[in-house]
Amino acid sequence: MKVETFMTIREALMEASVQLENSGSPWLDATVLLSHICGQRRELILASFPDDLCDEHYQEFIKIIKLRREGHPVAYLTGKKEFFGRDFWVREGILCPRPDTEILVEEALSLIENRHYNRIHDLCTGSGCIALSLALEEPKLRVSASDISVHSEEVFYKNRETLQSPPQTEFIRTSLLETLKGPFDMIVSNPPYLTTDETVDRMKDGWKEPSLALDGGADGLDLIRIIIPEALPLLSQGGCLMIEAASSQMEKMKELMKKAEYTEIRILQDLAYRDRVIVGIKP
Ligand code: GLN
Repeated sequence: MKVETFMTIREALMEASVQLENSGSPWLDATVLLSHICGQRRELILASFPDDLCDEHYQEFIKIIKLRREGHPVAYLTGKKEFFGRDFWVREGILCPRPDTEILVEEALSLIENRHYNRIHDLCTGSGCIALSLALEEPKLRVSASDISVHSEEVFYKNRETLQSPPQTEFIRTSLLETLKGPFDMIVSNPPYLTTDETVDRMKDGWKEPSLALDGGADGLDLIRIIIPEALPLLSQGGCLMIEAASSQMEKMKELMKKAEYTEIRILQDLAYRDRVIVGIKP
């Protein structure tokens, strides 16, 4: 008589994390993906180690682990990414929100409170994670967001609806600051800032996020060189520009900000203590 053997949740996770050893966070990825398939919270999956995994879920798990191995981000596979305590819907064609960007939101909220800012714009918004987090944390703010990508528009509006962000949070589809009408008290941005070489390397590794959201040109600063001077006339007096970039780019950005005559220029670090966000004030 043939005895059917089942795999336990623990065994399935162990097997998957070996297969994902090059993913950067194999165990986390495996548990997040399995909890997505089982429709259970991750804590529950972890508490159910000795239980059998049904064959249907196991087959689905094998398929999704294969996609992850090929480079699909976990967020694309589950359709969501947590950012600042909320689940944002993401899909191909959109940069997945990163925890590094949360410090920009935190700092923005503290400046908004201290300086009584009201009108805020998020440039290169992607999924809308910065704009919608600010609007949800401070519903009285007048927040807008822009991006050149049509995918961004779709994802932004869907997130606005799902997260029940204030309906006045509007999206403008435009290239950088082209059709924006100020004055804004604050402009925040997580623009594409990888170098072209870094972007090409990631694509070769099977990275699935769009180069439009990553590639900032030869030194990664092509868009930032436009944003810094062009944001200034759109800011109110005492208004603030805040940009995320890589730590190696901060000194150059500081120079660009000084040249454009921003004052009170500061650099903030991310959770891994890398310089990540630059802040400057319009005098
Ligand atoms: N910080 C991102 C990364 O290193 C890049 C995001 C961006 O270019 N805006 O993957």
